[in-house]
Amino acid sequence: MLLTISTIHPPATDLGYLLHKNPARPFTFDLPVGQGHVFYPEATPERCTVALLVEVDPVALSRGRQGAGSMPLEPYVNDRPYAASSFLSSALREAFGTAMTGRSKERPELAAQELPFEVHLPALPSRSDSDLARRLFGHLGYTVTSHPHPLDPQFPEWGESPYLDLTLSATVRLKDLLAHLYVLIPVLDDTKHYYVDEAEIDKLLRHGEGWLDGHPERELITRRYLKHRRALQRAAQAHFSDEDALEPPRPVTLNLNDQRLEAVKGALLSSGASSVLDLGCGEGNLLARLLPERQFTRLLGLDVSPRVLVRARENLRLDDLPGSYRDRLTLTQGSLTYRDTRLRGYDAAALVEVIEHLDETRLWTLERVVFGDARPGSVVVTTPNEEFNARWASLPAGDTRHEDHRFEWTRAQFQEWARRVASEFGYAVTFTDVGEADERLGPPTQMAVFRREAS
Ligand code: SAH
Repeated sequence: MLLTISTIHPPATDLGYLLHKNPARPFTFDLPVGQGHVFYPEATPERCTVALLVEVDPVALSRGRQGAGSMPLEPYVNDRPYAASSFLSSALREAFGTAMTGRSKERPELAAQELPFEVHLPALPSRSDSDLARRLFGHLGYTVTSHPHPLDPQFPEWGESPYLDLTLSATVRLKDLLAHLYVLIPVLDDTKHYYVDEAEIDKLLRHGEGWLDGHPERELITRRYLKHRRALQRAAQAHFSDEDALEPPRPVTLNLNDQRLEAVKGALLSSGASSVLDLGCGEGNLLARLLPERQFTRLLGLDVSPRVLVRARENLRLDDLPGSYRDRLTLTQGSLTYRDTRLRGYDAAALVEVIEHLDETRLWTLERVVFGDARPGSVVVTTPNEEFNARWASLPAGDTRHEDHRFEWTRAQFQEWARRVASEFGYAVTFTDVGEADERLGPPTQMAVFRREAS
């Protein structure tokens, strides 16, 4: 992965003094997972550019993690070598530690001065939100130019990849520039690691000093920097100026999403299944709940979207799980509208909020694939109850809850569909409410549990 910082402040080569790295001498240093290199692709009095190149060894990264992933080569072929991430932040600190403190032996007055800088990050992850980089750096006074890389330049119709080519320019102190990059690069990458501890709060507060407290995205920055660990977030929050304005802790009642996942998990547990398919697994919310249950010895998560599978891998921290857990879980890409022999031989399958994402006229393909061909012993299906939408004040009548929902069914429609499928494919079906039911409108979510009948 690569980062360059340029300046045109004359004499531009003074950048070498500020960074304590001689433009004439390339510098190489070791990192826990590879090597870093500092060198100057250009060094003239008019313009000087320093490059920090980090070579991450993906094999070293995945050592002891064999068997992980949705594809056999995933531990070896992934974005870690080129996508800007916390490895780049660590390398920044390693290479430019003194500059980050704002000290410069030779040019102390220059270190204290705001200078024109331009930063280029050729591959910055932007998985969920392509506008985030602009918001994060824009608020700090940077002019942000970015464009997404195509997924594959050979196939423009495949669209954009979740990586940006990003250029930042601003007149800032070098110390501040480095602190912004140090904190915000891992925030944009948002990869979860298994181990984060209190030391991270300290780093965040130290490098966030003077700018983080008032940043409109402070909450997001803190959350992502601390790897979504609530306890750490709360501890960090106590250091911010508006600590008193802190929202009261959320009530302990489960939200609908949690209730749904718990209901599905319960149905799967009581089906006696040990091997389970999570079909349309999305970001892995159900799998995260199934993984700790010893009853489930074989789990397969399938989704049509490679992008959500990347999130699922991260959310499940698959790369950091001990081998015994990892070997139980496979994530794979596939579509429920095509017969897939990999889905055969499982005890149970879950389709959580998935059927409504297919065109109603194509639903029969899923029925054949799941009930006709994969034929698990039990199938748990959930879908919104359309009648309940009247309870959501923000939903005008006739609207679905999610823009990607192709249809939403009333209880009668869902039950009619489920009974027809059951009788066609030799299953028995029962129905359960999920979430707090309205007397008249029924529950927000409806669930059907199918059990294959002895043939
Ligand atoms: N079950 C998950 C995700 C629900 S969203 C949860 O409850 O959190 C619906 C998911 O179905 C999306 O991730 C979408 O990518 C996936 N999906 C839609 N059509 C699909 C198809 N034909 N085959 C497989 N997955 C599909």
